[in-house]
Amino acid sequence: MSDLRIVAVAKAFAGVRVLKGIDLDVASGAFFTLLGPSGCGKTTLMRIAAGFLTPDAGEVHLGGERIDMKPAHRRDIGMVFQDYAVFPHLSVADNIAFGLRTRGVAAADIARRVEEIVGMVQLQGLTERLPSELSGGQQQRVGLARAMVIRPKLLLMDEPLSNLDAKLRLELRDDIRALQKRLGVTTIYVTHDQEEALAVSDRICVMNGGVAEQIGTPTEIYRRPARRFAAGFVGSMTFLPVAIRGGALVLGGRRLSTPAGDGAGECGIRPEHVRIVPAGTPEPPDCIGLDGRVARVTFLGPHVSCVAETDLGPIACQMSDADPGAVPAEGAAARVLLPIGQLHGFDASGTRCEVAA
Ligand code: ATP
Repeated sequence: MSDLRIVAVAKAFAGVRVLKGIDLDVASGAFFTLLGPSGCGKTTLMRIAAGFLTPDAGEVHLGGERIDMKPAHRRDIGMVFQDYAVFPHLSVADNIAFGLRTRGVAAADIARRVEEIVGMVQLQGLTERLPSELSGGQQQRVGLARAMVIRPKLLLMDEPLSNLDAKLRLELRDDIRALQKRLGVTTIYVTHDQEEALAVSDRICVMNGGVAEQIGTPTEIYRRPARRFAAGFVGSMTFLPVAIRGGALVLGGRRLSTPAGDGAGECGIRPEHVRIVPAGTPEPPDCIGLDGRVARVTFLGPHVSCVAETDLGPIACQMSDADPGAVPAEGAAARVLLPIGQLHGFDASGTRCEVAA
């Protein structure tokens, strides 16, 4: 069942269209992420869902009820912000209890619910401290507990991890996901970090310039990006220019069939699918082979990143460090192998087109 429904929502600031008609359906209990570069409209869309901004056009429905006319405080929505937004003069326990008190919940219930959520977000033993006596990660746990304790119909999280260091980000992101699953609260999560989005989301909406470029599960978006923008923004991809003519796309001398119309297209390939082998190695029939030279080899711990220069441009390759013998030397002449089944074709408009041998 769809819980949050956003229908044709549009918003402009001073004549600049920031949201150009967004449609979203978020299933009940889902973890749904808005992912996109800075300025693409993620926060604006979230603020419209929360009721802090009024859309110029479109509708917002929650649990079957139209809510875009309702004031923010009557929408039953919990929010977690980037800068924690905890009350500095209140203890952890009072911060968490705040929303329950304003809703007139009985004192005994407040104590029980605060204790329960404190256990879930692992703040035991810290409830009498002030926020200034907590680390950033702990403060964000207070923010999370405060939003969750009211049992909102919808939880909105706007870049909640971006002020934390890398290790804490990973830890808290896993905890957020586990807690969200346990409580089953429908969640909209905003981030510009594609790895974070892939790790936590049931579904992702990739946004660009006020438009939803693609909505899908992490694997759908990563493995079958619908548009060039999503292909390049989620994960990395090398794009090679190709000409599409008469139902064929020519890459490295091979004609690949495609239903795309004539024009200047591109073929994309992810670094983990590229193989670099010694110069002169014949390519298997399911691969396109390009002559090249290894321009750069970067050791990254679990894997090694290489860039090979070819006539079509630089091509990135990522290989596992588990097989150090296969890592080429910088400057070596090489054959670059592109498996045809892993190529992503995009037509002149940037829309995905299938390619086949
Ligand atoms: P970020 O990741 O940087 O937070 P975002 O995708 O959340 O970006 P928004 O904050 O939604 O983007 O902003 C979208 C565009 O709207 C930006 O160009 C921003 O400058 C503009 N904008 C947002 N709020 C206002 C406002 N109140 N008045 C004028 N312009 C605004």
